[in-house]
Amino acid sequence: MSGRVASARVIPLRSKPTKQMMARSELRRLDKWWRTLNRPFELNSYFGPQTGPAWRVRVRAHPLVLSAIHAVRHHRGATGVKPADANTGGLVLAVGMYLHSGSVVLLRDDMRVGDPNYLRDHPLKDELATAISDHWSRHVLIDFHGMKDDRNYDISLGLGRYPPPRTQRLAERLAGAFELRGLTVDLGGTASGLSALSEETITTRNCTP
Ligand SMILES: [Zn+2]
Repeated sequence: MSGRVASARVIPLRSKPTKQMMARSELRRLDKWWRTLNRPFELNSYFGPQTGPAWRVRVRAHPLVLSAIHAVRHHRGATGVKPADANTGGLVLAVGMYLHSGSVVLLRDDMRVGDPNYLRDHPLKDELATAISDHWSRHVLIDFHGMKDDRNYDISLGLGRYPPPRTQRLAERLAGAFELRGLTVDLGGTASGLSALSEETITTRNCTP
């Protein structure tokens, strides 16, 4: 999933007010968490902290696992430094805290580890696969990225290389919710060039049937 998050704010997604709809105070709380939890990623010109673990994998009983593996600028081998997908780290942690769901974030640049979505073998993917292996059929992994404004969509929902039917159904429900709020959605990500078809992405690696 990709979206414009460089200048971000929280909006409710339901089509009409319901008893379950988030109150404005809840939205403000989530927005505050987002901004606060994003600050460590912004350190050192968005390379993140200079010490500590390079990533963190948390899988819970909740079926959702949200990830932001480009949350900081990072070295990607011969192709140099990849820019950060701004604000995605704080967003994943804030929503994960709100929902009590799992989260996976790249915390800081470490030249030794590289990009989990670019390298075929990466220890982050091994750790994630091990963490969710007990619940393989239940968990849904949604990987958050940023997107340039020139893609002409607000949201791009790439489905990965081998999307199972439930991935398609979930994407259709998400697209419907976004569109009801007036956001434009590229379902499948083809038009915006963000289909996530690479064999190396963490969604394909961890979700191939
Ligand atoms: Zn990205």
